Order: sequence, then structure tokens, then C-alpha cells
Amino acid sequence: MRWTIEDTPERAAFREQVRGWLRENLPAGWADAIESGDADKLDQARKSWDFFGWSRTIGMSGYGAPLWPKEYGGLSGEPWMQNITREELARYRLPTVGLNILGVGLAGPTLIAHGNEEQKKRYLQKILTSEEVWCQLFSEPGSGSDLASAGARATRSNGEYIINGQKVWTSIAQMSHFGMLLARTDPDVPKHDGLSYFIVDMKSPGVDIRPLKQITGSSEFNEVYFNDVRIPAENLVGVEGDGWRVARTTLMNERVALSGLSLDSAAFAGGTRKDPWALFVDSIPNREDGRVRQFIAKSYVEKEVKEITQFRANMARMSGAQPGPEGGVTKVYNAEFNKWRSNGIMNANGPAAVAWDHGDSDSENRAHAFLRARANSIEGGTSEILRTQMGERILGLPREPEVDKGIPWKEIKRS
Ligand SMILES: Cc1cc2nc3c(=O)[nH]c(=O)nc-3n(C[C@H](O)[C@H](O)[C@H](O)COP(=O)(O)OP(=O)(O)OC[C@H]3O[C@@H](n4cnc5c(N)ncnc54)[C@H](O)[C@@H]3O)c2cc1C
Repeated sequence: MRWTIEDTPERAAFREQVRGWLRENLPAGWADAIESGDADKLDQARKSWDFFGWSRTIGMSGYGAPLWPKEYGGLSGEPWMQNITREELARYRLPTVGLNILGVGLAGPTLIAHGNEEQKKRYLQKILTSEEVWCQLFSEPGSGSDLASAGARATRSNGEYIINGQKVWTSIAQMSHFGMLLARTDPDVPKHDGLSYFIVDMKSPGVDIRPLKQITGSSEFNEVYFNDVRIPAENLVGVEGDGWRVARTTLMNERVALSGLSLDSAAFAGGTRKDPWALFVDSIPNREDGRVRQFIAKSYVEKEVKEITQFRANMARMSGAQPGPEGGVTKVYNAEFNKWRSNGIMNANGPAAVAWDHGDSDSENRAHAFLRARANSIEGGTSEILRTQMGERILGLPREPEVDKGIPWKEIKRS
């Protein structure tokens, strides 16, 4: 990363400690390849890469979540430790987000903030090692942007909750062990007050997971139906009726988790000799065309602005508090930038962007990236909704009118 501040002696010592750990734990030859800039050697070392094994190794080390308390697998560290760890992972061309992206990024911080001791002991370490993968069961067919209107019901009965209803857009539900579920426990109070937050075992009888085919051809997300699913009462996170407050912790962390993703994956994909920007330029054909040159120049400017914005957000987070609405700034920027850039890449490729020989994986990946980028301004909250939130909570603009304020949920109009 170019946007860095000079390390204090304490930070430099921590950076050295992370590097030492990486040298000891990476596959043979990997660290040497990075340090000597030998791309062939890195390719060789990557052949023995085992992502599952790596997820477990980093999950056991504390470096997978430096901010988490030591007793649950973290380092009880400060925000600058997380930044340094991420910088070093990117430097060694490693993904900064492991297999269990929603578990580590969303469920873990939520359980740390609102879970009880038993829940933290039971779930956190296995989230970090990716032994138990998590999904997020929030959105419903009629409740996406207006999530607080969610209608999946949780009814208490003899020490259990019985869940009925439908969720949608549930990423990786088909491979998850547990889900973070937002459900309505009281329909007689205003929408924000009648929600509760649960941990649900995705293998419970009555959980019906149906993958949805996306425009990309893959099935990243699912519909999930709950038919009389029984959840033990100890799986309630926080107190009954306070689920909206718990869910907001998940949502704020989601925005932060989604705002840096493409940078991280670019760093992982990059070889040793070239930085991700040089790789990007090399991948653009027809560079003699003035319009393509303009696209490359504008991409550079936008990339710089994005990195500086990301850097400023990281610096702000150094102060340590839970992420707030400012996480939306980088999330929106990232989403819009990624969409704009993938569009420009398709234009630069001309007809080759839409038709290619069988087995041409570069062209296939390019089309996939273009189609997948459409989702960036929807997932984790749409750009429109986040702009409204930033206007209200950061700029102090007047709030949007709330037509259902104070009205019991069961009486409000829902789609
Ligand atoms: C790839 C992907 C993965 C996802 N993964 C998950 C997941 O794992 N778990 C999960 O729970 N959800 C997930 N989602 C769902 C996502 O959070 C919702 O799609 C999103 O919040 C929008 O909700 P919606 O689709 O119901 O759209 P709607 O809320 O129906 O919105 C439709 C359009 O209207 C606009 N709109 C709505 N209200 C307003 C308003 N007040 N002001 C201005 N414009 C407005 C929106 O911006 C949008 O353009 C995922 C979505 C995608 C695309």
C-alpha cells in the first residue's frame, strides 16, 4: 500500500512480528519469492497453497482478527494492529479476508458486542478458523432496504423459538453451518421494537435452502424458507425485542467489510514484479485508441481517490470505536467505482468482450467480473440508501419522512 504513515518503534516492532510469523507459516519459498521479487518462485509456492488449511492456521494465530479479545482467538489489539496485519498480508499477496467472510466480518463482531459468555466461547474461535461458516439471514422479499419491516416470525414456546417465514439473497447459505437471523417476536409494537436476533443452525429440520441462479451463471445466494424451525432459547443474541440494535452492529461491520474487498483481491491476484495497477494497464487492449487512453487515465485518478479515501477511513478507525455511518462512504465509492471500471474494460475490449473462443478463461473472467459488479451497489445496502444515511447521520441533513413511525408493525403497509 502506498498510503502509509511512518511506523512508530512500537508499530515497526509489531510489523516485524507479523512478518516473522508469515515467514514461518507460509508454504516453502513463498516469503522468499515476495522478498526477492521472484514471480516464478511465487507461482511455484502457490501450487502447494491450501486455502482451508491457511484459514485454520491464521485463525489460530490471532492475526486473523487482531481486534478480537485474546480469549476468543484475537490479540486484544488496537486498530493500528489490524491495519498493519492487513498491509502485511497484502504485501505477501495473501487474502486479507479468509473463507468465512461473513463469520469473521459480521457475526464475530456482533457476538463480541452483544453475545453472552457461553455464545462467545461456543462460536468465536470456530468462526476464526473457518471450521464453522456463517451466513446472514436478514433480507426478505418485501424487506430489503426497509429491513426493519422484516416479517419472518419467531414465536416463543416451551424454552424454544419456532421460526416461520422466508429470507432471500442469503449468500453462501448452502455451505453455511450457522446463520444470523433477524425475526419478529412481537408484531404489536412499532417495527424496530419487535425484532429479535438469533443464531440458527442451518442443518435444523425445517430449513429449506434453494439456490438462486444469478446473471453470472453462478449461485452465490439463496432463498431460505423456515417451516416450524425450532431454535433453543439460548440462541437468542441480546434480549428479546432488541434485535434491531444487534442487527445494526452487523450492518455497520458489513459496510466496512465490503468497502475494501476489491483492493484486497487485486493484491492477492498480483504477482511479485508488478503492482496491481501495472497488471490492470497491461490487461487493457487497444491502448492506442484515445478513448481507451482516457479511460485508463481516469481509472488512475479514481483509483488514487479511492485509496486515499480508504486510507482516511482506516485512520479514522484507528481511534477504535465500532464502525459508524462513515463506513458507507467507502462502500458507495467502491461499488460505483467497480461498476464504472468493469464497464470501461468491456468497452475497451470491443466485440471481444461479448464473444470468445471456448476455454478462453481471461475473457470469461472479464465478463463475469462485469456482470458481478452490478451487485456491488445492491449488496450490503444500496447506494441510494447509504447516500441517504450519510446525508442524515454525517452531514446532519433533515431525516427522510417516516410514514410508519410509532405504528404497530402489524398495521403498517408492506409490499
Ligand atoms: C450479491 C448480493 C448478496 C447479498 N447477500 C445478502 C445476504 O447474505 N444476506 C442478506 O440478508 N441480504 C443479502 N443481500 C440483500 C441486500 O442487502 C438487499 O438486496 C438490499 O438491501 C436491497 O434490498 P432489496 O433487494 O429488497 O431492494 P429494495 O429495497 O426493494 O430496493 C429497490 C430499489 O429501490 C431503491 N429504494 C428503496 N427504498 C428507497 C428509499 N427510501 N430511498 C431511495 N431509494 C430507495 C433501492 O435503492 C433500490 O434501487 C444481498 C444482495 C446482493 C445483490
